Amino acid sequence: MPSLRLPEFTLAGRSNVGKSSALNTLAGRPNKKIAKVSKTPGSTRLINLYRLGNVCTITDLPGYGYAKVSKEMQDDWRKQIEAYMRRREELKLAVLFVDAQRDPQESDAQLLDFLEAEAKSTLVVATKADKLAKQALQSSLEYLRESLALPSDQPIALSSVTGLGKREVWGAINEICTR
Ligand code: GDP
Repeated sequence: MPSLRLPEFTLAGRSNVGKSSALNTLAGRPNKKIAKVSKTPGSTRLINLYRLGNVCTITDLPGYGYAKVSKEMQDDWRKQIEAYMRRREELKLAVLFVDAQRDPQESDAQLLDFLEAEAKSTLVVATKADKLAKQALQSSLEYLRESLALPSDQPIALSSVTGLGKREVWGAINEICTR
């Protein structure tokens, strides 16, 4: 993978969690898509690299936990991701997306453990926040915080439909990358 000598962060999450939509929203290009948004789970199978001007680079890790993919392929992805995480010097932060509407899955907790072990820093973002009413969203965020043992300012709620949380996510990324 080419080095663009910019701080890099990587996006991870279960298939269909809203990762591609989040990338487009964070990149601020709702009309000119930076990433393909797909309705087919498991369609992101390569590590894609994006550049946001001279600010940073973003990578999009392959979706995981999609039942129709064979165990060998899942093992292969894991090896590729491990190699990337261990060797990529410019990698500052791994962002894990979880669905605000759903209880965290075992695979979310496992991936978070893996990212915490491999990445310099981690940030958890709860997607599809627009699908819950305010009170239900707060309860869901609290539950995610407790069950994934997150710091008090995480997860950050994000909606790719309304743009809610976009500034907060960028603020956290900026704070972590400039530490
Ligand atoms: P990925 O597989 O994680 O990259 O997920 P996508 O970004 O392709 O999104 C999966 C589905 O969830 C699509 O149908 C999106 O339109 C929908 N989606 C993604 N983000 C949001 C969101 O913030 N709000 C709502 N209501 N739907 C979303």
